[in-house]
Amino acid sequence: MSFAPRRPTVTAHVGSVPIGSAHPVVVQSMTNTDTADAEGTAQQVATLAAAGSQIVRITVNNEAAAAAVPEIVSRLTAMGVAVPIVGDFHYNGHLLLAKYPECARALAKYRINPGNVGGKRRDENFRTIVQLAVDNDKPVRIGVNWGSLDQDLLTQFMDENARAGSPRTAKDVYMEAMLASALRSAELAEEVGLGHDRILISAKVSHVPDLVEVYERLASRCDYPLHLGLTEAGMGMKGQVASAAALAILLTKGIGDTIRVSLTPKPNGDRSEEVLVAQQILQSLGLRNFAPQVTACPGCGRTTSTFFQHMAEDIQTYLREQMPVWRGVRPGVETMNVAVMGCVVNGPGESKHANIGISLPGTFEDPKAPVYVDGKLFTTLKGDKIVQEFLVILEEYVARTYPSAGAVAGANIEHALA
Ligand code: SF4
Repeated sequence: MSFAPRRPTVTAHVGSVPIGSAHPVVVQSMTNTDTADAEGTAQQVATLAAAGSQIVRITVNNEAAAAAVPEIVSRLTAMGVAVPIVGDFHYNGHLLLAKYPECARALAKYRINPGNVGGKRRDENFRTIVQLAVDNDKPVRIGVNWGSLDQDLLTQFMDENARAGSPRTAKDVYMEAMLASALRSAELAEEVGLGHDRILISAKVSHVPDLVEVYERLASRCDYPLHLGLTEAGMGMKGQVASAAALAILLTKGIGDTIRVSLTPKPNGDRSEEVLVAQQILQSLGLRNFAPQVTACPGCGRTTSTFFQHMAEDIQTYLREQMPVWRGVRPGVETMNVAVMGCVVNGPGESKHANIGISLPGTFEDPKAPVYVDGKLFTTLKGDKIVQEFLVILEEYVARTYPSAGAVAGANIEHALA
């Protein structure tokens, strides 16, 4: 299958991060801390950035949050974290940005939802925010959402449709109202003076087929960079699979310049899961590389022990923990593929396709595990130290194949296995 070329767009810069078709698809995320808690928010932003989020959005929902933004950014600077911070505004953005100029300056981008900028004074409030973006030289994301669509615009579209000779479906009208809300807002922003290359657009819905359709329509009508995301994707596996399905379809069509995976975390769960899922979507599609990949078979009746499951997990954990050490000093290591296979049926074949692979003994097979390196049999491991010995071979392979001029901290294999 060949992917469609990226849809041509202008390039918008969010802080130092370029977004658009000439650049790799950008991963971003959003905090779920109380923004007024500057310390907690800065800490979560730093965690998201360390996981690989290139841009982090924070809600700026009240005066305490707006007042905390400069402190959040200065705390991050003190931590050496230079990730651009985006302010998410609803209802009162025009008031907060005007009243807290340090907040307006500290943010790298403003997100405006045209459905949530006020009732009768909607256009006036929208113009105020855009003017502040112009004054502070900031880009804006016009983020339309299915759940908060401009009701006046929707009513107008529904009325016009009712009067039409051959009315369209309600869903079709809803989608057109979403697109009109986004594109008219972009037009208005440019009238105020915001540059064409200072605008990004999103139009999020929560059902996969609808998301694909709305973005296909949007992509054909503008050249603004598009921010993709399935809104309210949900928890756990459902959210991950639905987001992957939606984003993969659009990305293979060349649509999408930055992505966010909106997962509902478990109580006190790790927020950076949404970053890892976004990265995995891009890496699974072959669009970007973030970390070495483990190819592991699912196991079957030939693997009646859990040994190879533990080994696959240990190696995956080891690779994930090593990436912060390798990143920047082992260029190319993120493209490495490691195979961990359960028996001889597909084990040697899959191992030969990987950079480095191991085929464990299945039930009733000889208790030995051949290791393949770059497609050739390298050695055969036996005994109860197979995992440790394989990780030593893996570390030596990384050092040999992805050389670095700088010193690399030694691999802490014992720690990875602890
Ligand atoms: S490689 Fe072997 S253990 Fe793994 S799924 Fe295939 S037959 Fe089963």
